[in-house]
Amino acid sequence: MAVSELVRIDQPSLVDLDRCVHCGLCLNACPTYRELGLEMDSPRGRIYQMVKVAEGAMPIGPSYIEHIGLCLACRGCESACPSGVLYGRLVEAARAEIEATIERPAPVRLFRWFVFEHLLPSRFWLRLGGLGLWLYQKSGLRRLVRATGLLRLFGKLAEAEQLAPEAELPTFFRHYGKTFPAEGERRYRVALLGGCIANVFFARLNEATVRVLQKNGCEVVVPEKQTCCGALHVHAGLRHEARKLARRNIDALLAGGYDAIITNAAGCGSTLKEYHELLEEDPDYADRARRFVDLVKDVNEFLASIELNPRLGPIAATVTYQDSCHLAHGQKVRAAPRKLLKAIPGLQFKEMALSDLCCGSAGIYNLVHTEMAMAILEKKMQNANRTKADILATANPGCMLQLKAGVELYGRGQRVAHVVELLDEAYRGS
Ligand code: SF4
Ligand code: SF4
Repeated sequence: MAVSELVRIDQPSLVDLDRCVHCGLCLNACPTYRELGLEMDSPRGRIYQMVKVAEGAMPIGPSYIEHIGLCLACRGCESACPSGVLYGRLVEAARAEIEATIERPAPVRLFRWFVFEHLLPSRFWLRLGGLGLWLYQKSGLRRLVRATGLLRLFGKLAEAEQLAPEAELPTFFRHYGKTFPAEGERRYRVALLGGCIANVFFARLNEATVRVLQKNGCEVVVPEKQTCCGALHVHAGLRHEARKLARRNIDALLAGGYDAIITNAAGCGSTLKEYHELLEEDPDYADRARRFVDLVKDVNEFLASIELNPRLGPIAATVTYQDSCHLAHGQKVRAAPRKLLKAIPGLQFKEMALSDLCCGSAGIYNLVHTEMAMAILEKKMQNANRTKADILATANPGCMLQLKAGVELYGRGQRVAHVVELLDEAYRGS
């Protein structure tokens, strides 16, 4: 299919936009509206602007780009909307249309081309980048660079460096192509998606996920030819690139005969479960994409749906749970992680107020809109602190990074953990 044809379908459709009845019931579910109190930075206001653009009454100019850009794409508004407005689909289409319309400066184009088309889908570049970052972080160079304040000369680079997670060596890529046997009787055969940067920054989380699945009777395959899911591409409006990755993953996984395709990253899961929308106009892949989507499961969702191995050791602590937006709003999975946490003996569960309000992570949002992300995070940490929980659990690597930054800036020394890490710990302690 020609790119021009794809751009045509990557626009907010008036049919979808018309579902909004302007009731405003979504406003309080919107983190940017709660911060700014501005209609143009609310879901209703953004939809209004999309309608104007779709009708040709408003140009795709700086104001529109700013308000659409400031949206976290958290989809909190989608859960709150009684009219079934598919806001996530709308904002992704709006971003794709912006991307197809504007001309970015050459260095930005070059940077985006490298990151989205070469770094994220490439095992070679991710490994190399991870090694470089690991050396920078462990060799003392980081301390030196921070002491000199050199990075402040490069604006956003200083913020990115501060927020960069610790690189983990060896990376999870070393497990690609391997099959891990089930412990005890094999009940399921599942494929695990390693992600893209998660292979470098969350290698131990991925390994914990394998162990927990094995403990639950799963033979776990880490397919060799899998690639990045394309979530970051979709959020950046690069749907054409995301489609290429979706096709690669479908080719690599669909014929494997798996009972489930598992991810431990809510952001990835949400996009993987939307491959059928991404490829609906592709005659060669539309049907295969639907079959692929039927197999995709978030690891919380999968474990909560099977008979959980009860041989869990105790964890003596209090835990609260931050809903990852793309699990709660994107995939409508809310009860599963809570059920799993409550299954761990000794772990006291305390619900946090507004647990399904975004923490401000939202992919690379905290790098691009740092001020807004930090304002949202501060409020999140106030609610987390009120629970007096020792552990902040969540279900998405991006949220973990943001919450770790929140603990450092506004917290009480809480530990931040993925639900699966706590399960792994409990199984190991049993
Ligand atoms: S998006 Fe939904 S909740 Fe928000 S104003 Fe429109 S109809 Fe109402
Ligand atoms: S996706 Fe999130 S930030 Fe964007 S309009 Fe909806 S609630 Fe607000």
